[in-house]
Amino acid sequence: MVNVKRVKIALTKGRIEKEAVDMFQRAGIDCSEIMNKGRKLIFHNLKDNIDFVLVKAPDVLTYVEHGVVDIGIVGKDTLLEQNKNFYEVLDLGFGQCKFSLAGPKNSDFYSGYNRKKIATKYPNVARDYFRKLGQDVEIIKIEGSVELAPILGLADAIVDIVETGNTLKENGLVVYKDICKISARMVVNMASMKMKKNEIQKIINRVQIQIDKKERALS
Ligand code: AMP
Repeated sequence: MVNVKRVKIALTKGRIEKEAVDMFQRAGIDCSEIMNKGRKLIFHNLKDNIDFVLVKAPDVLTYVEHGVVDIGIVGKDTLLEQNKNFYEVLDLGFGQCKFSLAGPKNSDFYSGYNRKKIATKYPNVARDYFRKLGQDVEIIKIEGSVELAPILGLADAIVDIVETGNTLKENGLVVYKDICKISARMVVNMASMKMKKNEIQKIINRVQIQIDKKERALS
């Protein structure tokens, strides 16, 4: 008898959770239980031999890197911010937003010679962006509501995720420069890719078919 190995998948809780569940459902991999979950964090799909776990975005890569889950579904923002080892295998196309440099509407960020202060929840992304530009800035790590930092005078600008742009607008801020696009990705633990090659490739193929279908429908 063929020994089918169990695959564990970590889904990011919150913003991309519903679209990730929809994607797996369309691919014929049942995880509908997640949507009626209450406080439960682990779900077993016995038919496909898959366990789903729900975790916070920054923890997805920790679980994937340590190999306690084989696959992670997480935003590109998290991949860019964390320096972890994994294979990025699919751009899932949903959870689209962008990293932008933004600041007060009526201020000229690019004028003057003073060292600019940048507030952000993503210090590595911000540092990397300004390093590539050769611009020396001070990065100030903020845990939430980064938009407040330039309003209160803590920073000249922010590096943050922009989706609709409404949060910036409502706080009198504008985008100075877009840094990069973001969407949800599928990542795989490096050892699992070898040890559970067939099982993981089957999941990737089933999801890839759904991505292609969606792209064709949109074109
Ligand atoms: P919006 O007003 O639609 O442009 O959304 C921007 C606000 O939502 C900012 O405070 C962002 O930090 C936050 N945000 C938007 N999308 C995401 C995301 N995918 N992950 C984390 N935060 C996000």
